[in-house]
Amino acid sequence: MTTATDFRHLAERAAKDLADATATEALAWTAETFGDRFIVASNMQDAVLIDLAVRAKPDVDVLFLETGYHFAETIGTRDAVEVTYPSVRIVNARAEQSVADQEAEFGPLNRTNPTQCCFLRKVVPLQRTLARYDAWVTGVRRVDAPTRANTPIVQWDDRNGLVKVNPIAPWTDEEFREYIDTNGILENPLVSEGYLSIGCAPCTAKPLPGQDARSGRWAGLAKTECGLHG
Ligand code: SF4
Repeated sequence: MTTATDFRHLAERAAKDLADATATEALAWTAETFGDRFIVASNMQDAVLIDLAVRAKPDVDVLFLETGYHFAETIGTRDAVEVTYPSVRIVNARAEQSVADQEAEFGPLNRTNPTQCCFLRKVVPLQRTLARYDAWVTGVRRVDAPTRANTPIVQWDDRNGLVKVNPIAPWTDEEFREYIDTNGILENPLVSEGYLSIGCAPCTAKPLPGQDARSGRWAGLAKTECGLHG
């Protein structure tokens, strides 16, 4: 049986071997190494990562954190992904409580305590889902924000206890846009309205000119990450 220590060593080796890998190479390695035991996370801002992953594994599992606070456009993008990539399996990870029950018990946590809200609606459902896998794939890029500037292609995710693969970590905004335009990739309609980093509706604003894409997330608060990646 492969243990967490084995996977940690595997991740450490792959971090060196795949340090300069292309996204296609990183995903081919992921599919070959983990088979059915990996999942691709998507916030449904676009289908770039899903499109790349499907080329390596057509029936790949796709994780969507269904917080209950998403824009209608984000839910629409998820539904469009299901139609465009019928072979993928979308795994909707939900919190224990509905939004109504949470608000009845705690009030508007996204305003009073967004860290607890993210914990209940994102971190816990993520951890519960990832417990069924040996690796997860994310669309984190180094240019997203200063906190992500050193993101490697492969790493050991100590918090969740599995291998984390970031195939498009080195991609610039121009490379990302070129992939979308060249391949006609699905994109959340909010992007063309100026939302450059889309999370839950109550916590997402358009970034101000000249600010990084994630500056519109929890705008006005010190919080910059959901607790999923940082
Ligand atoms: Fe709650 Fe906002 Fe976090 Fe979504 S992003 S889980 S609404 S605090």
